[in-house]
Amino acid sequence: MKENLHPKYKPVVVRCACGETFETSSTKDELRVDICSKCHPYFTGKQKLVDTGGRVDRFNKRFNINSK
Ligand SMILES: [Zn+2]
Repeated sequence: MKENLHPKYKPVVVRCACGETFETSSTKDELRVDICSKCHPYFTGKQKLVDTGGRVDRFNKRFNINSK
């Protein structure tokens, strides 16, 4: 019987660019994200520290957020 043919999901710490960390399940040992629910303008209602390269604009368009 061979094992490890099917990677098992396991708890993994996700590290966000804002410094936030949270747990999720993944087959990987570590995950990194640029944005999370703590710093995402869609959730915070604010725009901060991620307004580079039109990234916020893309998010706003994706979620149909009006910048007023
Ligand atoms: Zn974050």
